[in-house]
Amino acid sequence: MKLNGRPLLLLSLLWILVVPTGIVYLLSTQPIPEVNWLWVGLSVLLGFLSIYYPIIYKRKPVILFVWFTLPMFLLYGLTTELIITQMIIAIGVLARLKTGDILFRLLYNSLAYFVLSVCSAIAFFMTGAEIGEMAFGSLVFGVLVYQLVYSVGYDWIFKLYGIITNRMRLDTVKETLLHYFRMIIAVPLALALYFILFHYGVIGYLLVGIPFFFMTLLLRMNRQTDDLNAYIQSAGKIGQQLAKMTTEESVIEEFMTKTAALFEADYVYLFDHYDGWLEPTHFFEKGKKVNVPQVRLAKGEGIAGRILSDKHSFLYSRREQWIQQTITPVPEEIESLLCIPLIRHQGIVGVLLLGSKKKDAFKDFHLNVLDLLSSYFIVAVEKAVYIEHAEQESNRCALTGLYNYRFLEQRLESEMAFLSRGIHKHVAVVMLDIDHFKDVNDTYGHESGNLILQQFANLLQNKCPEGSIVARYGGEEFVYILPDYTKEAALEFAEALRIEIQQTKMRVENDLACIINEKQVELTSSVGVSAAPQDTDEAMTLLRNADRALYIGAKQAGRNRVGGYVK
Ligand code: GH3
Ligand code: MG
Ligand code: MG
Repeated sequence: MKLNGRPLLLLSLLWILVVPTGIVYLLSTQPIPEVNWLWVGLSVLLGFLSIYYPIIYKRKPVILFVWFTLPMFLLYGLTTELIITQMIIAIGVLARLKTGDILFRLLYNSLAYFVLSVCSAIAFFMTGAEIGEMAFGSLVFGVLVYQLVYSVGYDWIFKLYGIITNRMRLDTVKETLLHYFRMIIAVPLALALYFILFHYGVIGYLLVGIPFFFMTLLLRMNRQTDDLNAYIQSAGKIGQQLAKMTTEESVIEEFMTKTAALFEADYVYLFDHYDGWLEPTHFFEKGKKVNVPQVRLAKGEGIAGRILSDKHSFLYSRREQWIQQTITPVPEEIESLLCIPLIRHQGIVGVLLLGSKKKDAFKDFHLNVLDLLSSYFIVAVEKAVYIEHAEQESNRCALTGLYNYRFLEQRLESEMAFLSRGIHKHVAVVMLDIDHFKDVNDTYGHESGNLILQQFANLLQNKCPEGSIVARYGGEEFVYILPDYTKEAALEFAEALRIEIQQTKMRVENDLACIINEKQVELTSSVGVSAAPQDTDEAMTLLRNADRALYIGAKQAGRNRVGGYVK
């Protein structure tokens, strides 16, 4: 989230009023004593490292630089500790920066830690303890109170931060307890450093620093395994969902949006591979589907094209690493890229590219998880394509490609159900029968008859209004279902169609003649119309009515005409 304008201005004003003013005031009232600069420098360095490589526990960073700043407070007082902490915060925020909001985070953290330093110091002094205190009992008590105020303050200040930046996530009781626990365990370590520095000098940093970073390292390694397991689990769930989907398009959309969410990618691009070329097919940007660019990438062209030539995945952490290789415009803000080949039967069938506006957004193990996920994806696509194809086959007539009778019947039932529920006001049916079609067969042969049926079907399909369907009802009989057409509208539609048919020349190949020759023929058709609820409210009766209208109103009346159903 970006915080601009008024909140940022207010924060800046507050910061100027509190932090620089406070530091100047402290410097004049409690000047920095003579300090050991090596210790100060090491405290800043180690404090910064503890921000840069935080211990990650349950996916949350645990920042413990208080181990290094508290001894500075105990040795040199509030002013020194406060300046050291401010330096650590400033360097930490600037170095750890992956996204925008630099100024906001800098000001907020600086202000927050200023308040924490001052409040904890006041609490410490209120216990009667002093700087340079050596009496163990009062020192421990003072430090415990110091840490308690620090912890409570930290807890609330950063809850507030969550609310302001909309990243609010209420901690569970367990998490809150954990927070206090780790603040309290900082006490013995900080005290140890203080005493060792006091008695043995700089070696204290080694004694505290080494175990600290060793522990950090261990916990980080542990986290990677935890993370990997969590990712594999999520990938498995996504795989299961993909396997349930029955259309190619839904599998692709589900895969792309879920993958983007899992890897926190802002951009997901999918390319198909045809004969050495990559063609973009689906682009998702920030969860929304966008148009794909009209480009084709050859082997080695652009980043996706390099997958074709190099045949392995790529992972980039920063824009500088890849921007030179692009040949098409890429959104300005993309920093990290993850790019993998989609492999089926040892061949590359496509390329998937994930982009993030964060630097270092992707880790090596993400590649493995993505590989796994893409194998689920490829299988799911294959299955969905198969199902779609089978469904098409069972619903379509093989000769004309129009819907068949089975589908017509089902669709009519469901449209009539919509009618009864008031979703449609009307449903009309238009039935056509080609006039004297037997003559075509007799004159030009059955194959020519088939050719005509195909052309006739194309014409009907082209004239099919949106939301309506046309099906092959029988031999040379066809039916339109027109939802929300009144009988009058359907009669008008039928009449226009009849004229169109009459005016269209159809091609035949006379396979009965000795030499096959092409000819144009003109056909006419008879049309019957019936509509619900006017004529009936039952699906099969509606069809029968249209049939009757066709024979009585059109065929018997002389053919090449439209008949409406009359009761
Ligand atoms: P009318 O409808 O005007 O009364 O005359 P018609 O000659 O069209 O008569 P009818 O509808 O009874 O005949 C339908 C003919 O359509 C019979 C059959 O030979 C032909 N037919 C049906 N299905 C096919 C097909 O799949 N291919 C071909 N070539 N002909 C078919
Ligand atoms: Mg006929
Ligand atoms: Mg017929």
